[in-house]
Amino acid sequence: MSDKRRGFPLGLDKLAQPTTARAPASAREPLRPQRLLHQAAQDAARSAAPSGLGLDSAHVRARMVDRLRAEGLRGEPIFEAMGRVPRHQFVDTALANQAYEDTSLPIGLGQTISKPSVIARMLGLLLEGANARREGHLGRALEIGTGCGYQAALLACIARHVVSIERLRPLFDKARANLAPWRLDQVRLVYGDGMLGHAPRAPYDSIVAAAGGEDLPPAWLEQLAIGGRLVAPMQSTGGGQVLVVVDRTATGWSRSHHEGVHFVPLKSGVL
Ligand code: SAH
Repeated sequence: MSDKRRGFPLGLDKLAQPTTARAPASAREPLRPQRLLHQAAQDAARSAAPSGLGLDSAHVRARMVDRLRAEGLRGEPIFEAMGRVPRHQFVDTALANQAYEDTSLPIGLGQTISKPSVIARMLGLLLEGANARREGHLGRALEIGTGCGYQAALLACIARHVVSIERLRPLFDKARANLAPWRLDQVRLVYGDGMLGHAPRAPYDSIVAAAGGEDLPPAWLEQLAIGGRLVAPMQSTGGGQVLVVVDRTATGWSRSHHEGVHFVPLKSGVL
């Protein structure tokens, strides 16, 4: 089976082999013989964190994926990507031990990394778009709201090319630093207002927003390819946010509304 059929056009090998490996704890901080043995052991355990918590192990990610499957979520390519991308490396070290729980976590500036189940649900909906079903992957993907870059890394596994836009400079810089070790040539990070989309790489087979507004910006609809699908949170008429799916066909756009969600607000302009 070709890579294309398997739904992982690019990037997985690179994700399996980061270009900057963590030095072993012993190389970073040699134990000093004059210290008490138990104290030395405690120090060594601390300097090995987060590996000391077992977070560098694929098992902890496999357990997270098993739980998502048990909840009824679907999409093998997504689960395979989630099994590989080390979510704990995208959050603050102090929160790393919560990285594989199904919870959103703060990433600074009042923003959050989304819950794994919500990410899996949105990417699952994207994989059911017409072009994605035909190709077995997300094709040319656009993400609005890069945040810490976790979802962009997942997208890199299941799309041919990814553009991800962030409007807050410190988060754009953080995502760039988080993704740098993987050298993902197929991911382009853009600092800008995602409400305008990113015309130079349009049209997109898949568009996903990690922030929700009153309505869908017209640029997203325009930049959606025929056969493409958009998944985004949006304010519902009854209050609260819902997931909205838009499919573009040769004759127009069709919209469907899904379950309630809770995303940070979509804001215009850059900071
Ligand atoms: N996908 C991210 C989730 C980040 S939270 C992750 O994996 O971590 C949503 C992000 O959307 C925030 O960082 C916020 O700054 C950003 N955002 C909100 N409005 C935006 C806009 N108009 N353009 C680009 N980014 C926006």
